[in-house]
Amino acid sequence: MKGIFENWQGKWPDAYVIKVLKDVGLKEPPFDELVIADSLGIKVIQYPDPTKEPVPYHLNAALPWLLESGTFMKKEGDKRIIFTPAFVAPTKIRMNIFHECGHAILPWHDGQCYLCKEKDLEGKAQKLIEREAFFCAASFLMPRGQFTKNILDLNVTSFAAIQMLKERYYVSFEAAANWFVQNNPGICALVMIEPTSLDDPEMSEVEVIAEDQTSLKVGQPDVFYNCEEPTESPLKVSYSIRSRRFPDRIKRNLGISTDSPFYTAWVSGKGIIGEISAIELGLFDRAPLRYECRPIGFRQRLMILLWEEDKQQFWIQPGPLAA
Ligand SMILES: [Zn+2]
Repeated sequence: MKGIFENWQGKWPDAYVIKVLKDVGLKEPPFDELVIADSLGIKVIQYPDPTKEPVPYHLNAALPWLLESGTFMKKEGDKRIIFTPAFVAPTKIRMNIFHECGHAILPWHDGQCYLCKEKDLEGKAQKLIEREAFFCAASFLMPRGQFTKNILDLNVTSFAAIQMLKERYYVSFEAAANWFVQNNPGICALVMIEPTSLDDPEMSEVEVIAEDQTSLKVGQPDVFYNCEEPTESPLKVSYSIRSRRFPDRIKRNLGISTDSPFYTAWVSGKGIIGEISAIELGLFDRAPLRYECRPIGFRQRLMILLWEEDKQQFWIQPGPLAA
């Protein structure tokens, strides 16, 4: 893409991603982040851990950024270069590169000064810019049309389904789980729980999500926001996401007491499946929710997938995962 107005696709980031994928002719995921960056005329430089290896001389000027494991894009005339750490998980590298590609393809990001590290950002406009770039990254990784079709084909709400999608799209499990819930036509939610003792007053709610780089809130009004007061419980909700048909938000900071099956699962470090009253999650009295939960590496967290038996599965056409 070259100019701004001749490439105008409207205000939704998705449209720009779809156009790029179409222009490049990529159809089957997982899409190669380097091929896409190259098609946009962007060079990618992956740098080694600067605390373990000397940085190449041409990166000296960027050392402060590198020490923070930052990914950033530099513009030189018409050319762009992405610098990104090579010493993180491959799925994270993919997300980082696609995030920068997002900045490159959204015309209104052109000329903006963006720092791809949300805690440094002040002001709604810059936060929105970062969220849009994350959203583009998610769309490059898991184009919504195909992803939603896969959800329908799988026709089940479970970690096993999410695992299949994670592998198909080559993303982190958490990214696949977030996208699975956000694009799900059924009634489901994803809740991340972490120890209250890990509370970090410096850490914003945005950053909690950004840790796995799936801050996907553009055009998604259903991603948490309202917060409970800090809790005395040993565990608390760090964030939650719901499908459009899930009745209400599960609040951030909601305490999980030692009586909860989630506490038991967290202590044992083992996944469990079961049923829980919606009231226990701060929701209004309704039908019990089914759940599947499992520990997930970072910050000793527990991931919970919740769903309600859906009586309106009129869209379902059972079938295998599309090849
Ligand atoms: Zn950014």
